[in-house]
Amino acid sequence: MAIDKQQLLREHPDIKDFLDLKSTLWLNPGALANDQIWQHEQFTIEDIEAADADLHRYAPLLEKVFPETVKTHGIIESPLVRADKMGQILAEKENFSGHLLVKLDSELSVAGSIKARGGMYEVLKFAEKLALKNGIIADKDDDYTKLASPAARQLFSQYKVQVGSTGNLGLSIGITAAGLGFKAIVHMSADATQWKKDLLREKGAKVIEYTGDYNTAVAQGRKESDADPHSYFVDDEKSATLFLGYAVAALRMRKQLKDLGIKVDRDHPMFIYSPCGVGGSPAGVCYGMKILFGDAAHTFFVESTHCPSVGLGMATGLNEQISVKDVGIDGKTAADGLACGRPSGIAGRIMKPILAGDVTVDDAKLFDYMRLLHDTEDRIIEPSSCAAFAGPVMLYNTATGKKYMADHGLTPEIMKNSIHVAWATGGSKLPEATVKEYLNTHLD
Ligand SMILES: *Cc1c(COP(=O)(O)O)cnc(C)c1O
Repeated sequence: MAIDKQQLLREHPDIKDFLDLKSTLWLNPGALANDQIWQHEQFTIEDIEAADADLHRYAPLLEKVFPETVKTHGIIESPLVRADKMGQILAEKENFSGHLLVKLDSELSVAGSIKARGGMYEVLKFAEKLALKNGIIADKDDDYTKLASPAARQLFSQYKVQVGSTGNLGLSIGITAAGLGFKAIVHMSADATQWKKDLLREKGAKVIEYTGDYNTAVAQGRKESDADPHSYFVDDEKSATLFLGYAVAALRMRKQLKDLGIKVDRDHPMFIYSPCGVGGSPAGVCYGMKILFGDAAHTFFVESTHCPSVGLGMATGLNEQISVKDVGIDGKTAADGLACGRPSGIAGRIMKPILAGDVTVDDAKLFDYMRLLHDTEDRIIEPSSCAAFAGPVMLYNTATGKKYMADHGLTPEIMKNSIHVAWATGGSKLPEATVKEYLNTHLD
């Protein structure tokens, strides 16, 4: 679609920083108070609980296929940890106040990223459907370890599961599908790092490499899959299953907050900062948090200054009708997980009344935050995940951030009790050498 950049800017002056590749905090004018939100939304808390119930049903199967999940009884969940030392540094240097926590999806087993939630769920659900249809299991009360039997593997081997990815979604889908016996095919964009491709091949998935971007890889993967009746395409830009799998995080987190003795209410507001590529996983996570915590939850996406796709889509209302490339933005970033130039339409529409705002961050900062987290908390997460820390920094240090707090009655007193969750979306599978290289990366 031809887009007149100057015309667009006249109609939507709030996209100026996005167009100028400037690190910014954009506030979402479509955000509504909690009692106004849900009449506009299609998924209910029951839908999220149903996804959680599905995952409990699949747990015995996961234990069998992926022995690393035995210690958590086939439930894949990540720790929520305090990051007080890093919070202290941000308080000294960046005017931060409140409690900093990190949700370590980087440590989710099997996939090592937030994609374990939605991605594994979607593959398992497809496997369940085939197993029911072909009599591997009689009904949903049957023994799900039968999905790991030779008969089931024989059945699954007749099907392809395909996906387009910049890396982590491919890892999640590829490892899960290949583990169950499917022919797994991952269409990888040029942004994907070599080690992710190597790992996938080692796990038995076929990796097709593209010189083009994420959207090219998805389009080609979808086309090949659609032409084959024995092929299932995991569609990050459209899938409700992926979305609900991501949203389950909120149910689990409610319990974790309780276990940590952390209250979330009007006087103890919670801010969620979720690194965002196409928008699927952060939308799922933030939707779930909002449905559970209502007005006490303030949800922000964080994107690269070189790929503000969801922000641009939401600010202009064009959603998936606009790609950053349409306005001359290159989409190139060291944060492979954020390198999606055209946003998901479902994410933009669903988040319209929910999202508080969108933060953009320069690549250089990602490595600074990575070092800071490593030095203060002794944790390693990948560059894309480090984007999350730009959230609190921009909230406390920009005019728009201050306006947001003022407009929501978030006084300095209340903010002292505020909870800030940086969603660490990936990283535990990073090879040692890559970690070293990242820790020594200094951009300007
Ligand atoms: C997938 C991913 C994101 C962003 O998720 P989208 O669903 O593409 O918006 C951010 N960081 C990491 C590490 C990811 O794997």
